[in-house]
Amino acid sequence: MSIKALKGFKDIVPGEVETWQFIEKTARDIFHCFDLAEIKVPILEKTELFTRSIGETTDIVEKEMYTFIDRNGSSLTMRPEGTASVLRAYIENGLLAKKTVQKLYTIGPMFRHERPQKGRLRQFHQMSVEVLGSDHPRVDAELMAMAWLILKALGLSASLEINSLGCPQCRPAFNAALLDFLHKAENLCDDCRRRRETNPLRVLDCKSSHCQEQYQHAPSILDFLCPGCTSHFSEVKEGLDLLAIPYRVNSFMVRGLDYYTRTTFELVTNDLGAQSAIGAGGRYDGLVKQLGGADVPGIGFAMGMERLALLLEQQGKGVAATGMDLFVVALGAAAQKKGFALTHALRQTGHTVSMDYQDRSLKNQMKQAGKAAARFAVILGDDELSRGEAVLRNMESSEQSPLAIAADMDTWAGELAAILS
Ligand code: ATP
Ligand code: MG
Repeated sequence: MSIKALKGFKDIVPGEVETWQFIEKTARDIFHCFDLAEIKVPILEKTELFTRSIGETTDIVEKEMYTFIDRNGSSLTMRPEGTASVLRAYIENGLLAKKTVQKLYTIGPMFRHERPQKGRLRQFHQMSVEVLGSDHPRVDAELMAMAWLILKALGLSASLEINSLGCPQCRPAFNAALLDFLHKAENLCDDCRRRRETNPLRVLDCKSSHCQEQYQHAPSILDFLCPGCTSHFSEVKEGLDLLAIPYRVNSFMVRGLDYYTRTTFELVTNDLGAQSAIGAGGRYDGLVKQLGGADVPGIGFAMGMERLALLLEQQGKGVAATGMDLFVVALGAAAQKKGFALTHALRQTGHTVSMDYQDRSLKNQMKQAGKAAARFAVILGDDELSRGEAVLRNMESSEQSPLAIAADMDTWAGELAAILS
């Protein structure tokens, strides 16, 4: 019996991977426009890093992490998100000393033990951004504008929902009001009943429709913001207005991680069923300090690449594999040798070239050239070779013309490269 991949773990095969490359390239180009630097961080971290940052009573930590004891008896976790790892790296590598405002991005797989469905996997991929060292509301607006630009460049759109979760000064009064409301609410699910005592804000993120119906009447955090948070939120909105980025305030959006303060946001679509969030993020001003670093404010967001790829495919905007420049059709032993050398010489001119080594029939090799979507074919036969001649075929127009074989391979490859370019 053949071994299959794990449930919720998916291969991204040729035919699909081109769309992924397009997403990644588009995002990298835009990250570059915003002067972001890439950082690569490990997939495996000490479990404590995530429990301390994401929060003990979040869905991710309570139910979704891939945690195991390694051979040394340490508890390790496959990262469920990128922020904690990037902040750990920021602190550990002293990046604060190198630049007061660090703008970082990372792209890679994340792991959450969730129920797999369309747009929801156990290994999924995020492109995520962290800006550390500024609490200016323009930074928040700029980050949302960046996410919005990525979608635009991909030919996609989504609605931007924003909220403010306040700060340690104003959150307690809201928590008290929310707790009061939750004690009066009826028939809450088990999770919500338990969490209202430990982490009342968390219940607003519950996926149960019965709970959500009741939470429509919950107090709004925006009514409890302190003057500092109120003006910060106004300036974030002003920033978005200045950039003409449309948004909607959703005061019930709390996000599933405990570390958020002030601005939070989500990019949502109606085109992916229940998996409506294609990107999300928020400010986390106390987190660097909480992880043992300096008191540095920060904000970040992550976009889910599976969901972006699904949207592109769904809308017929998926990217097809590009064909090759040239297929060398070689008939006979001498032609095979010459053709083999030609592929190598042409690849050094930056062209995509291939050939068949089995010396199959002309018909078969031409079929392969067609399948490879080659723009041109060079047909080389032993007889023609001895006369110093080959045939160049334009695969699209089917036009064929004689092609002189220069005595020197590099010269010949140079002449052919000029035709291909
Ligand atoms: P959801 O509400 O869909 O569970 P989330 O709030 O848990 O999303 P975040 O932790 O904010 O998601 O991650 C940011 C983005 O990563 C999401 O907007 C989504 O596009 C993507 N994402 C999160 N979990 C998954 C998953 N299991 N499979 C695929 N993509 C995911
Ligand atoms: Mg989730």
